[in-house]
Amino acid sequence: MNSKKPGFNTICTHLGEIKDEQFKGAVSPIYLSTSYAFEDVDVKRYPRYFNTPNQEALCKKIAALEKGESSLIFGSGMAAISTTLFAFLQKGDHIVLQRTLYGGTANLVNEEFEKYGIEFSYVDSQGIEGFKEKIKPNTKVIYIETPSNPLLTLTDIKAVADIAKQNDIVTMIDNTFASPVNQNPITLGIDIVLHSATKYLGGHSDILAGAVVATEAHIDKIFQVAKNFGGSLSDFTVWMLERSIKTLGIRVKRQNKTALKLAKWLKKHDDIAAVYYPGLSSHPDHELAKKQMKGFGGMLSFELKNGLDASTFQKELKLIKSSMSLAGVESTILSPHLTSHALLSEDERQLQGINDGLLRFSVGIEEKEDLVYDILQALEKTKKLVLEHNI
Ligand SMILES: *Cc1c(COP(=O)(O)O)cnc(C)c1O
Repeated sequence: MNSKKPGFNTICTHLGEIKDEQFKGAVSPIYLSTSYAFEDVDVKRYPRYFNTPNQEALCKKIAALEKGESSLIFGSGMAAISTTLFAFLQKGDHIVLQRTLYGGTANLVNEEFEKYGIEFSYVDSQGIEGFKEKIKPNTKVIYIETPSNPLLTLTDIKAVADIAKQNDIVTMIDNTFASPVNQNPITLGIDIVLHSATKYLGGHSDILAGAVVATEAHIDKIFQVAKNFGGSLSDFTVWMLERSIKTLGIRVKRQNKTALKLAKWLKKHDDIAAVYYPGLSSHPDHELAKKQMKGFGGMLSFELKNGLDASTFQKELKLIKSSMSLAGVESTILSPHLTSHALLSEDERQLQGINDGLLRFSVGIEEKEDLVYDILQALEKTKKLVLEHNI
């Protein structure tokens, strides 16, 4: 027998698929029943128990992509994140989190935890000493997110996993920005990997979903809470997500390649003040990126200079759309200070290094030359407006 393990793109296309025994169709059938027999069955199925045929099939694929034992899929990234956090934290417990978090996660912690008696501390620098200092006797979880949003700073995944293990603490990572194509935190010692599947796993800006990957034991613990919170995903969307993931590898590898080229090009451009991309040798965490990432991702951020206004530039773009979200096949751009980080105070934004001119760019799968052309024409128009304004 051939015991070769399937490679990444083969897992994306095939692993977990439901064989259509009846009609021999090429793709998994969708099972939409919310009602299944309870007699003479080995599993009592119900969508909120996360065990419909399509849910189980997709969980196998996502677990394999993250090199974990098991997984659960949810109705949103935040459903996956909140359920998982509440599965491991109870009254009197403490969690250490890095400061630069997805806004929704920060809101969950800041607005909900106190009500439940859960203590939390933020680590200001992503350096490993910062994490060590915050650990207390009642610390149960360390939570990280790398690369971070929107400045693409990195946290040393293995170092965090190591200190957590020494202190018997569970580690969680939001791996959304990297996607399983570029980073598999479980292989670096992390216990629990979270995803907003709304982003790269979905990849077409038309699915809201979330996922968690971990050992069977940890997934069972999360499941016990998940069935009470009820954040499961509809089987239509489960099926769409299965289909989307078939192209995950080719999409993200292409996005990695274009993003790296664009980052290098932007870095040299006279109108660009700064480029933030872990694939650039000038990025402060570039060595760490090479160590823990297989590719540098499709997200980059940059700032304009020469008095060019970021909002005007954004409006002049024709191909690159302004968008609140990210990770689609189409390129999108966003001003963090007006959107994702608008709820932070001016001081907090400054603390995180997010100034008003910063633009976060989610690189799609278009031809690089067309993206370059779009940026150039928007820069020209923005410059003309500056000139006219000064006259
Ligand atoms: C979008 C996002 C989330 C939240 O996911 P939803 O699917 O919108 O609930 C969490 N983490 C990161 C890094 C994200 O980009």
